[in-house]
Amino acid sequence: MKINALVAHDAAKPLSSSAITLRPLQQQDVKIEILYCGVCHSDLHMARNEWAVSRYPLVPGHEIVGRVVETGADVMNFKPGDVVGVGVMVDSCRQCHFCQQKEEQYCESGFVATYNGIDKYTGDSTWGGYAQNVVVDQHFVVSVPQALPLAGVAPLLCAGVTVWSPLRHFGVKAGDKVGVVGLGGLGHMAVKLASAMGAEVTLFTTSPAKGEDALRLGAKRVVVSRDAQQMASAQTSLDFIVDCVSAPHDLDPYLATLKTNGRLVLVGIPEQPHQSPNVTPLVNRRLSISGSSIGSIQETQEMLDFCGEHNITADIELIAGEEIETAFARMLKGDVKYRFVIDMQATHW
Ligand SMILES: [Zn+2]
Ligand SMILES: [Zn+2]
Repeated sequence: MKINALVAHDAAKPLSSSAITLRPLQQQDVKIEILYCGVCHSDLHMARNEWAVSRYPLVPGHEIVGRVVETGADVMNFKPGDVVGVGVMVDSCRQCHFCQQKEEQYCESGFVATYNGIDKYTGDSTWGGYAQNVVVDQHFVVSVPQALPLAGVAPLLCAGVTVWSPLRHFGVKAGDKVGVVGLGGLGHMAVKLASAMGAEVTLFTTSPAKGEDALRLGAKRVVVSRDAQQMASAQTSLDFIVDCVSAPHDLDPYLATLKTNGRLVLVGIPEQPHQSPNVTPLVNRRLSISGSSIGSIQETQEMLDFCGEHNITADIELIAGEEIETAFARMLKGDVKYRFVIDMQATHW
């Protein structure tokens, strides 16, 4: 079936509206009319081939919220009219250890990405959420709680679950002292989710101007990371840190803020490696450094249910599809609070 989408035709050209063909509905498939799609930094990197893996034409978008319009014969959990979400994955091998453990994001064969992946049925590219519709296997579709404002739900599907997964996996609980490094799309969700879990959140930022916002979002303390005195005052005060900054940076000052047995989790991937951290504090205080990649389908559903109970959505700026290049340009300057979301119904195709 042919639909309209915002298509990157090569790395240098702006996205433009073009027709693409979705795969015919399989028995396990759900066809979704897309209402909103968040604009993740990966979309920008992929549209412009900055990771040198893009295949064109390419339709970005993996923070999808929409309404079910059609279901295949074997779909039991969804029906037309349901409000649903799709995140970064649309398939995986389903058989390896990690798929069996419901950790599809670590599938040994590699999960099928929502866009620029290889569609199992067609052998063609998978097409992302900057589009009117998407067809996805039901296993990779999640339910969106009714009460939430849907545009703000979209960024939960990538940014939200990316910080939710390590918070849950490593057992962060009420009363824990949690640091969040960087107040962007990911960081602002980490502040909201960790504080809703009952943790006491410290936000590390390079820009003092973000302090007020961090407190509004739920942080108890703001530390300007360029201020040595402020960093010194935060020494050995935290149990856990989610580091959301992907630019290469020195991890040592953050490790210094962890208590014995503390853990620093990195969720951003730097283009150049971070400088190697000093091992001495790791040994002396039994510190851990971990990474974490997005989150499973089960975790995504749990996070959405949690957000429904706690009335949490992302802080967003809504745009029409034709404003995408302006949005990309502003993202490069860090000028967005805190995620752009495309309103498909406001988009002229
Ligand atoms: Zn993303
Ligand atoms: Zn697998």
